[in-house]
Amino acid sequence: MRCPFCSQPDTKVIDSRLANDGDSVRRRRECITCGERFTTFESAELVMPRIVKSDGTRVPFDDDKLQSGIMRALEKRPVEMEQVEASLNRIKHKLRATGDREVKSRQLGEWVMDELRELDEVAYVRFASVYRSFQDVSAFQEEIKRLQESPDEQNSAKKRES
Ligand SMILES: [Zn+2]
Repeated sequence: MRCPFCSQPDTKVIDSRLANDGDSVRRRRECITCGERFTTFESAELVMPRIVKSDGTRVPFDDDKLQSGIMRALEKRPVEMEQVEASLNRIKHKLRATGDREVKSRQLGEWVMDELRELDEVAYVRFASVYRSFQDVSAFQEEIKRLQESPDEQNSAKKRES
């Protein structure tokens, strides 16, 4: 790449090492002409697909919004932040891995529910009850019924119903 000091096009790499836990490569370069040294970082460009909402509008993927939605479902539930972050990362990985420029919000919601089902069943039902449309109400009721085997979770589920 071009030298930022003298703009001469030939620079050589004199050192190369991993940075940011292996997510990027840090390269020390030296200009062949003026001898100045500088550093470059190289990382993969992973573009998040846009989210297609049910009304057809497209919005940029919103990391904060995803996290707050999940946190709302997990309110007062015994789930560690570390687990939440791991779930968020898995969801974002799935988004990127599609390789598509657009992902339906419904698909994103399904992935969130997959994660919540693993994290905490009550949070899963909370999220599903808000997220899922009326046509899925019977599936939602089946989930509630299934959770009623556990007295603790039964109370939380009942509270949500009222
Ligand atoms: Zn130079």
